[in-house]
Amino acid sequence: MRQVTGARTSETFEGTYECKACGFEAPVLVYGSGRGTAGGWGRDSAAAALADASQDAGDVAAWTLVFVPCPSCGKRDPIARSYVITAIVLAVLGGLGFGALFGVLVSGERLFDGGALKLAVLAAAVIVALAIFLAKARAFIGIRRRVAFDLARATGIPPATVVRR
Ligand SMILES: [Zn+2]
Repeated sequence: MRQVTGARTSETFEGTYECKACGFEAPVLVYGSGRGTAGGWGRDSAAAALADASQDAGDVAAWTLVFVPCPSCGKRDPIARSYVITAIVLAVLGGLGFGALFGVLVSGERLFDGGALKLAVLAAAVIVALAIFLAKARAFIGIRRRVAFDLARATGIPPATVVRR
């Protein structure tokens, strides 16, 4: 069996929030969690898996900024919508694909028959679809807890009009 090393990380990333609607800009801290894997076993694999996890956390953090309502005008980046649609499509396709594969494998084994097989395939498809969706949903879950704006250093609008949320 192929050896795989897994890693998890949670990191705080520093970036700049830019609102496409009103031009508001502010330094921002975003917290993201990530998972990664690397082939092999040992110190190098652990480092590679951690780097992979760190990149995943960075992606989650970057996408989180797309879902944050602008502290000034309250609008979100319009690509947030297409991210959610993509997540749903990937989840459905992944679920159907895995369900079909699982069905073929399991029906060959004759472990289940008839209704039980259909139910097992459906359960497998739903679990995989949910897992894919939840992995993508990390970008828009718990935004308020994971994002901190440095409003004192905001630009693009008069500071007096900045609404603290
Ligand atoms: Zn704005």
